[in-house]
Amino acid sequence: MPDLTPDEFRRQGGAVLDWVARYRERLPALPVRPEVEPGSVRAGFGPLPEQPRPVEELLAELDRLVVPAGTNWQHPGFFGYFPANASLPSLLGDLLCGGLGAQGMLWSTSPACTEIEQALTDRLAAALGLDPGLTHGGGGGGVLQDTASSAALVVLLAALHRTSGGAWREDGVDGTERVYVTAETHSSLAKAVRVAGLGGRALRTVDTVPGTLAMSPSALAAALDADAAVGLRPVLVCATVGTTGTGAVDPVPEIAPLAAAHGAWLHVDAAWAGVAALCPEHRHLLDGVERADSFCTNAHKWLLTAFDASLLWVRDAVALPAALSITPEYLRDPASESGRVVDYRDWQVPLGRRFRALKLWAVLHAFGLEGLRSHIRDHVALAAELAARIEAAPGLALAAPPSLALVCLRADTGDPDADDEATRGLVDRVNSSGAALVTHTTVGGRHVLRVAIGSVATTRADVEALAALLGV
Ligand code: PLP
Repeated sequence: MPDLTPDEFRRQGGAVLDWVARYRERLPALPVRPEVEPGSVRAGFGPLPEQPRPVEELLAELDRLVVPAGTNWQHPGFFGYFPANASLPSLLGDLLCGGLGAQGMLWSTSPACTEIEQALTDRLAAALGLDPGLTHGGGGGGVLQDTASSAALVVLLAALHRTSGGAWREDGVDGTERVYVTAETHSSLAKAVRVAGLGGRALRTVDTVPGTLAMSPSALAAALDADAAVGLRPVLVCATVGTTGTGAVDPVPEIAPLAAAHGAWLHVDAAWAGVAALCPEHRHLLDGVERADSFCTNAHKWLLTAFDASLLWVRDAVALPAALSITPEYLRDPASESGRVVDYRDWQVPLGRRFRALKLWAVLHAFGLEGLRSHIRDHVALAAELAARIEAAPGLALAAPPSLALVCLRADTGDPDADDEATRGLVDRVNSSGAALVTHTTVGGRHVLRVAIGSVATTRADVEALAALLGV
């Protein structure tokens, strides 16, 4: 069966681009989250076509089946979870990536795929103010993972290998491994611990500093010392810059020497907040990262890049290959054996990999670093204004200090027993409006409404509309 002719591809591609442009145009008129009965989309999905069908029919099906049942993450009123910016330039970058259709598993399977990624991550490290030791030129290096969850898993595997003196690859785990997080650490760490076969018992939940949601260095020191004293092996400490619940920041400068003293790998998870370091005024958030073994931030959250594109830097360029490299005959390659190239297959779990760097390059090209900075600054400023209004509003209270573009609030009825119910009611009121979507968490056992400003299309008017729904 032949592929589309170039002319037919141009025609159909034009129709698809037009559909996306139209969808984005009409987003403000759509509810952020539609009401959908479970099973209804599946039930509406027709039989698989036996014969080729025109692309227009597929697009019509999207209008019939997908748009009415999809949560509209690119809606200007989307304030849930963390943003998943899918800017239009990043979609074009994705198209270029698919258009080349390259597999960059080895340097030699697409030298451009590997080297653009190396160059881009080196330049971005500089733009974020990261330590040069994390770059390819400096003994470490950057890599694009699909997600921060995958980044956490691979650095945990590298940490297991390193802290076992190189025995982990052959012998696996022995039950003495320990990984240090807080209750605020993203669940991807707990998952990585289980995927790596350590079992939940390996996870140590370190206390936070009373009155804050940031890791307590003294509690970490005590946990590390107590474990080491009974022959347990501290493998990895995960510090978070910008926790998922409230955007709290663990004190990396104080955590780093504690991890180092026990030979544990220090991973800094800044999946959401890390990109803010493009703005010099937020760079202090990454203080201490110069002493970390690895650092991760997602371009696919707040950096205008469509899912997936998670940036991971490691200080030791051989740590991941040492743990992960498996070379059957069919992957033997003179360039790899020369030691002069990076084979990114050894920096990730899957073998195959796409040219994700093209998407990120397209974003940087289209917006420029200044454009990305103003995207972040606009949202931070809008969040500060919203937080000030909430603070001043009777019946509402900030549940945590505002963090960058994240505002956490709760009802403050004067009766703590009634607050949770009232906060739930507020979440329902906002979400059932269709004009905005917020999500929730708990802080100190109390129900909290989260407002994460950051959608590509969100403007002051959208935040004003949300404020009106919140009654401030
Ligand atoms: N780490 C933090 C702090 C997060 O907030 C998130 C997601 O919100 C993740 C990790 C997981 O991100 P991903 O979906 O890229 O695995």
